Amino acid sequence: MKILIVEDEPSLREIMVQTLRREQYVVEQASDYASALEKIAGYDYDCILLDIMLPDGSGLRILEELRRQRKPAGVIIISARDSLDDKVEGLELGADDYLPKPFHLAELSARIRSVVRRHQRDGQQSLDVGNVRLYPDSRRVEVAGCEVELLRKEYDILYYFMSRPNHMVDKATLAEAVWGDHIDQADNFDFVYAQMKNLRRRLHDAQADIEIRAVYGFGYKLVAPWGWPIASCCTCPGPSRCCWRGGPCCST
Ligand code: CA
Repeated sequence: MKILIVEDEPSLREIMVQTLRREQYVVEQASDYASALEKIAGYDYDCILLDIMLPDGSGLRILEELRRQRKPAGVIIISARDSLDDKVEGLELGADDYLPKPFHLAELSARIRSVVRRHQRDGQQSLDVGNVRLYPDSRRVEVAGCEVELLRKEYDILYYFMSRPNHMVDKATLAEAVWGDHIDQADNFDFVYAQMKNLRRRLHDAQADIEIRAVYGFGYKLVAPWGWPIASCCTCPGPSRCCWRGGPCCST
């Protein structure tokens, strides 16, 4: 999940970057109005933390530009100007939340989770496609009720596709979302193939009924089983629990 921080105060920006990176977000930053406009024109984000008072312009105008470009990002306004006018204008321009400075970093994290939950999942705690269930707040993945261990980038790739089932995704867009904006400078995308191969193997071994298919000459697409049933379990005896229908039971 990728976040853009637009904030001109270096020490605050740095502590937000560090905190959110520890929480395993891919974090990008812009320190002024002009570089923020460049970022939103060139890349997509899941959530944007937007300061209003920037040295060369207003964050509210960035918000207008985001909506004009129909960018899908959730937006949280972060501003020292705790005036009612800014708050109302920001929310009317389509911001999802407003957090006055100073704030606790734990509250910032909670607000981000809440905005993304509302924005991308209609308020649901999990993303469900086929028999795969992904809990973004805790970065857990289950296949037919059994937890599956994924490495960080494998999880990030799966999250990206589960948020966009049946959408074709080109390799460069996927790489930017999972590795960060700088990756568009890469000579090739061999690292994407390598992670994708591992993720597919793990999904296959766990008997997931979704599949990430290569689309020749373009990228990938997550293909869900017909009807996308909610992840479900069968009944297993004794101390074991959920399993894939007809597959082995797994122990709790
Ligand atoms: Ca500022």
